[in-house]
Amino acid sequence: MNYTDEVIARVKRENPDEPEFHQAVHEVLDSICAVVEANEKLYRREALLERLVTPERQIRFRVPWIDDHGQVHVNTGYRVQFNSAIGPYKGGLRLHPSVNSGIIKFLGFEQIFKNSLTGLPIGGGKGGADFDPKGKSDREVMLFCQSFMTELCKYISADTDVPAGDIGTGAREIGYLFGQYKRIRGVFEGVLTGKGLSYGGSPGRTEATGYGLLYITEEMLRCRGEHLEGRTVVVSGSGNVALYAIEKAHQLGAKVLTASDSDGWVYDPAGIDLTALKDIKEVKRARLREYPSYRSDAEYHEGRGVWSVKADIVLPCATQNELNLVDAKQLVSNRVIAVAEGANMPTTEEATHYLQQHGVSFLPGKAANAGGVATSALEMSQNSGRLSWSFERVDEKLKGIMSELFHSVDSAAQRYGHAGNYVIGANIAGFEKIAGAMLAQGII
Ligand code: NDP
Repeated sequence: MNYTDEVIARVKRENPDEPEFHQAVHEVLDSICAVVEANEKLYRREALLERLVTPERQIRFRVPWIDDHGQVHVNTGYRVQFNSAIGPYKGGLRLHPSVNSGIIKFLGFEQIFKNSLTGLPIGGGKGGADFDPKGKSDREVMLFCQSFMTELCKYISADTDVPAGDIGTGAREIGYLFGQYKRIRGVFEGVLTGKGLSYGGSPGRTEATGYGLLYITEEMLRCRGEHLEGRTVVVSGSGNVALYAIEKAHQLGAKVLTASDSDGWVYDPAGIDLTALKDIKEVKRARLREYPSYRSDAEYHEGRGVWSVKADIVLPCATQNELNLVDAKQLVSNRVIAVAEGANMPTTEEATHYLQQHGVSFLPGKAANAGGVATSALEMSQNSGRLSWSFERVDEKLKGIMSELFHSVDSAAQRYGHAGNYVIGANIAGFEKIAGAMLAQGII
């Protein structure tokens, strides 16, 4: 058995019942095997891969909170501080009923490489809880967030671990979390990113993941002599990433035909009306089935189905494993030219291979959605210097970061004889920097 296979087997043995974590480790180690083979003796002696796949620290805690009727509920909170080789741990907090330690570990592991790819000094971490903010009152969400932070604040600070938003954690939740941290620790510092503009947030952070996704997609197309302008696009999700991906796609002259939530999806042949979508999702916090009441020509369908709509570009922006092999076959028969992941690991491994084998340009999430964490790192820089930059300055930096990121991924793929395979390119480019930093810092 070669070294990477040995480590994959060990991860499966030591982390049973965590299929998403196995999937993420398998994808990364499989695609860096050329680098590992070239340095096998050193990496084995230093147990580099064993250390890479083992979190530096995992915290799991009780989160009791009281609902509006006086009933006490108990959720489980998590923070995985995975790797600090190149900077303080950085990664979002997910609030969703599906959260468990395997999901948080897969997200934390992915985050190590994504953060490395941004070129900024941030390590990898992730956290969250199996709490569902959907259907809860503002007061219930506040009480949950305060209870969550009462425990989490023991392990984080502006220089050690800086969480951000993710599924279920938007501006409202970040505000409550920040307020409780400040109250308990007595310091006003940049311990969370995604904060409101009036208390240390960065202009452009809300838009960053969606905008960054479109900037990198445009750069990839430009290198093929193509552009987004005039193209049709299918988007899944209708949360933070999806909304701003749709906004930037329209600004760049493309037409987005779909959006979805966990109940169903809409098809709007005239192009998604972003004002209507923002009103439903950001103002009313309602369900997508309301969309046709804003747009009479639009169709609403219950269940999954966005991938059946014919378009040139596909942007999965909802959740993990939402695009499977059957969907990939449908996309290929619809003659899709590119898939770029706004969500984390939305495409299954089988589907990814099928798309790549059939000539679809495929940008993995750790490269394509890195604009969010990159702008979070810019928020950290502004907080450290007690500065506030303009939206234009942040957006310009984001554009530059996404363009450089694409070229580092592209050139890593070429260097190892896999031109155009951005999965291999992203994993190798991310890994090389982490491996160098880990080796330089000794056995820790
Ligand atoms: P939001 O909570 O704002 O939106 C998530 C969207 O996905 C909602 O439309 C939600 O529908 C849908 N969704 C969530 N879970 C499921 C599911 N199990 N099945 C079907 N639909 C689902 O999250 P974000 O937009 O912030 O995050 C989306 C993805 O992007 C995640 O994978 C996240 O990790 C990733 N990401 C986010 C970043 C950010 O800056 N926000 C940065 C990098 C990656 P419903 O409302 O019905 O739940």
